[in-house]
Amino acid sequence: MIETQKEFTILITDDEKTNLDILGSILSPVYNLLIARNGLRALELAEEHKPDLILLDVLMPEMTGFEVIVKLKESSTTNNIPVIFITGLTSAEDEEKGFLLGAVDYITKPFKQAIVKARVNTHIRIVDQIRTIELIGLIDPLTKISNRRGFENRLNVEWNRAIREKTPISILVMDIDNFKGYNDTYGHQQGDAALKIFADISTKTLKRAVDFNARWGGEEFIILLPGTDINGATDVAERIRKNIEGVVIPTEDGVETQVTVSIGLHSVIPTTCAVAQIEEFIKKADQALYKAKSSGRNRFVISEG
Ligand code: GH3
Ligand code: MG
Ligand code: MG
Repeated sequence: MIETQKEFTILITDDEKTNLDILGSILSPVYNLLIARNGLRALELAEEHKPDLILLDVLMPEMTGFEVIVKLKESSTTNNIPVIFITGLTSAEDEEKGFLLGAVDYITKPFKQAIVKARVNTHIRIVDQIRTIELIGLIDPLTKISNRRGFENRLNVEWNRAIREKTPISILVMDIDNFKGYNDTYGHQQGDAALKIFADISTKTLKRAVDFNARWGGEEFIILLPGTDINGATDVAERIRKNIEGVVIPTEDGVETQVTVSIGLHSVIPTTCAVAQIEEFIKKADQALYKAKSSGRNRFVISEG
């Protein structure tokens, strides 16, 4: 349980004062609180203060909580803030909808104070842990996926496992096509938004828990597929290429933009933990990426040997 330093801020949104009072009495001893009586105000406060957690009622006049969360997820300032619905809507369908829209939790009214407190504390603890990981420098702050250092740590672990188990390990090196042009056309901030979406899509495309996605730097990303041979890696590469090509990235002015990606693939059954062999592994994928670029982009190329 986090004790009283009030280093975390929670935004509470409800149109009924009684609910706000109860939530306030439970949470104000431990957290800084921001209060909104309607959805629009909640969006303003979220954008301005970037709270650590948002508690959101669903049924409110003018703008529902479901509409609010959609807006929160659209903004690069607020899309990573966890949202908990606290609502009188008790059907499984509504709960499912809440989660599909990106909520981290769903609490129905009337609620038990101890349960609200426990769930809020859990999510704040997660926020705190993510922050700690960011601080120790393994997570890329923009996309919230692993950075190059995190990737190298993981590669070492998986490489050694693959040697022990004599299993294949595959790598995808990915580079967004003509991204300089994208930035020049839509601005750097929009470029950042596209990078986040790129990271999300590639993470979602991965199916196995051991698959590992990282930002290698700039508009380059890298995926490690332990226990996967070149056929499996080819499937993943094609799925990512297709999913990226198919996603529409809206700008703030409502322009529908798209990006494509080029991918280099390489797969080995490692035999030694010599640094040279690990470096060679990445280099081969990089060379394949270069071929994907020079042969027209928006494609993957498998390394030769
Ligand atoms: P290619 O298809 O050959 O990869 O062309 P490209 O334009 O993507 O490649 P190039 O390496 O010339 O340019 C990469 C660009 O990516 C440069 C920069 O504008 C953009 N970029 C790199 N890192 C970031 C970032 O963190 N945010 C944003 N918005 N843009 C970035
Ligand atoms: Mg590049
Ligand atoms: Mg590029």
